[in-house]
Amino acid sequence: MVDDHNDEDGASPVLRVSCGAEYVPRRISDFLKREAKQDLETAVRHHTKQLGYAARRVTVRDTTSRWGSCSASGSLNFSWRLVMSPPFVLDYLAAHEVAHLVHMNHSEKFWELTRELAPQTDRAETWLKAHGTGLHRFGAEPNVVAPSLRTKVR
Ligand SMILES: [Zn+2]
Repeated sequence: MVDDHNDEDGASPVLRVSCGAEYVPRRISDFLKREAKQDLETAVRHHTKQLGYAARRVTVRDTTSRWGSCSASGSLNFSWRLVMSPPFVLDYLAAHEVAHLVHMNHSEKFWELTRELAPQTDRAETWLKAHGTGLHRFGAEPNVVAPSLRTKVR
């Protein structure tokens, strides 16, 4: 079973995993993917509400070439690795794909709308340029877990 609890002092979150050692990486990545979906669905709901548009569905995938995409039918796809990015980055990516529900391009109008939904757009783009590739290292192979998470597995 995978669950997150706080330390006794409540300072930092701890991920407790109880299963055979060989299943730990799989349990952790399943957990992170579920968390990613939840966080992204919440962020997408928040942004679509502002626009009066609805996403057809939100899916989380193991993509490495892009952080998110929006299909013509209104389905939004995201990389589960966004769960390891700071919340303002995840929120920006949700806003970016939601803005594609209105503008299916990267026109000036698209960026205007994205910035309206996510004022942190430039900061988030800068963060992704600097740290984005690092996120792709994690979970690429079944036994690879983010080092920052590994230290917190007990
Ligand atoms: Zn885009």
